Amino acid sequence: SNQIRQISSGIIKSPIGNCATIPNEHAVEHIYKNMDEWIEEPAATCAVSGRSYTYGMLRMLVNRCAQAMLGHCGMKTGEVVALLLPNIPEYIIVCHGAMEAGLIVTFVNPLYTPDEIKRQFENAGVKMIVTIPLLLEMVTTIGPQLPGYKTTICIGGDDEPGRNVHGLMSLLSAGYEADLPEIHPDKLALLPYSSGTTGLPKGVMLSHRNLVANMVQGDHPALIAKTTAETGQKHTTLTVLPFFHIYGFNGIMNVCLRLGTHLITIPRFTPEDYLKALLEYKPTYLFVVPSLLLFLASHPSVTKDHLSSIEEITSGAAPLTEGLLQKFRQKIDNPKVTIRQGYGMTETSPVTFIMPNLTPPSKIGTIGVLFPGTEAKVLSLTTREELGTHQTGELLVRGPQVMMGYLNNEKATSETIDEDGWLHTGDVVYYDEDHYFYVVDRCKELIKVKGNQVSPTELENLILEIEGIVDAAVVGVPDELAGEVPRAYVVTKPGQNLNEEDIKKFVSSKVTHYKKLAGGVKFIQSIPRNPSGKILRNELKIQNP
Ligand code: AMP
Repeated sequence: SNQIRQISSGIIKSPIGNCATIPNEHAVEHIYKNMDEWIEEPAATCAVSGRSYTYGMLRMLVNRCAQAMLGHCGMKTGEVVALLLPNIPEYIIVCHGAMEAGLIVTFVNPLYTPDEIKRQFENAGVKMIVTIPLLLEMVTTIGPQLPGYKTTICIGGDDEPGRNVHGLMSLLSAGYEADLPEIHPDKLALLPYSSGTTGLPKGVMLSHRNLVANMVQGDHPALIAKTTAETGQKHTTLTVLPFFHIYGFNGIMNVCLRLGTHLITIPRFTPEDYLKALLEYKPTYLFVVPSLLLFLASHPSVTKDHLSSIEEITSGAAPLTEGLLQKFRQKIDNPKVTIRQGYGMTETSPVTFIMPNLTPPSKIGTIGVLFPGTEAKVLSLTTREELGTHQTGELLVRGPQVMMGYLNNEKATSETIDEDGWLHTGDVVYYDEDHYFYVVDRCKELIKVKGNQVSPTELENLILEIEGIVDAAVVGVPDELAGEVPRAYVVTKPGQNLNEEDIKKFVSSKVTHYKKLAGGVKFIQSIPRNPSGKILRNELKIQNP
């Protein structure tokens, strides 16, 4: 068996092969390259308001937006624009407009608290914010506090010269003109935030080439929707996954627009709106995270009829269990529906693994095989040697979709990407003899709540602000609905009478809903740490269940 191990260990390449040549194009150029074929077709529709744009209209407005941002808003190529928006069709106009103007886009959850938003926008060097009327008050407070801030664009709002706000419609209809720059594909395009393997959220630098590469990698006939491969069919997709996360942004929005898909958006998930949209727009393709699939599988108001139009489903961002898959299969009751799991990270634009169309049913719980043009290694958690089949260790990946690095953070970058270009994922995996991979655990701090990132460091820093607390550690504990939820372990000064509610309330007032301490607070004597001061999170969980 030692001999077999030696043969099978080392660098794993994609069994699907190399990826097609990555064109030397910037992301926006690439996405709309083939749109003449579907120029009159709908590109994006808001399920709640019915506002809809054809590909032709959308492309024209993206271009006008790019010109207005440079020619009227005072933005200069290479500066950063932030999107504080829910999923609406106009998201596409402003993000692609900004990219076509050579601006760098960062985005954030519109439900973040002002503190969370300000921290990210300061770190990213934001010069302009795009938002909606509901959030304008907050934005016009935060904006001027940012160094060199220029202006605000409000989608669905009017010009407000007094508050330095441009309404999007007036910007787009005024006919502003500017020369659009040549954009080299290696230039920075997108700055999503991720805490990576440790610490606070950091700006993940993704170039135009990173984004384009990941779109092109998915083109293989073994990977694209079966129906598209067989008949060239265009899909309709219902997208509730946020555009402010890399999965929604590049994995769904960009990929779909590039293929002529009709995107149906919902600004805020409610079961009523979502179910109504399923019946009204009859989507053929759904992108989900496991918690959304759980909703579809178990919510009493979801019936087989709601799901009758669906042909393909892709799940990602968190582990999809076999039990949930079975439960959903029973509900949808249609063996022809393809359900595929993918795996990715913000740092990899995002996809590195996906189940191919012909994945054997025996491969239970797999994330599939390497994306074309991507390589992997699995390293022992103890000896760091390269492992062979069926041995669990840390996953390392390499490919054209791997980020340029973390913004202004050499240290975190070099700790994450080694000299040979391998990105250390912090996920614990193994692979089988056919090179299908399986995620079994995480060896990084990250907590994922319904697919959303929660940085333990961020919550620990907050908890340490509370008078009377001397030490704190936050870990994820399993949760049926959310996958995981954050739990805090705290050490108080002697004689303190802080209780669980005090701490939960304080944290809730500072962070967005999914970062709350839904896993509770435990008071302990001391936090176990290694000699260099690193919290021993597993030990903590085992000692204090
Ligand atoms: P993010 O950067 O927010 O996309 O988070 C990336 C992390 O999500 C990965 O490093 C994994 O820990 C987790 N993740 C993503 N997809 C999967 C999956 N299919 N199964 C298990 N974990 C996943």
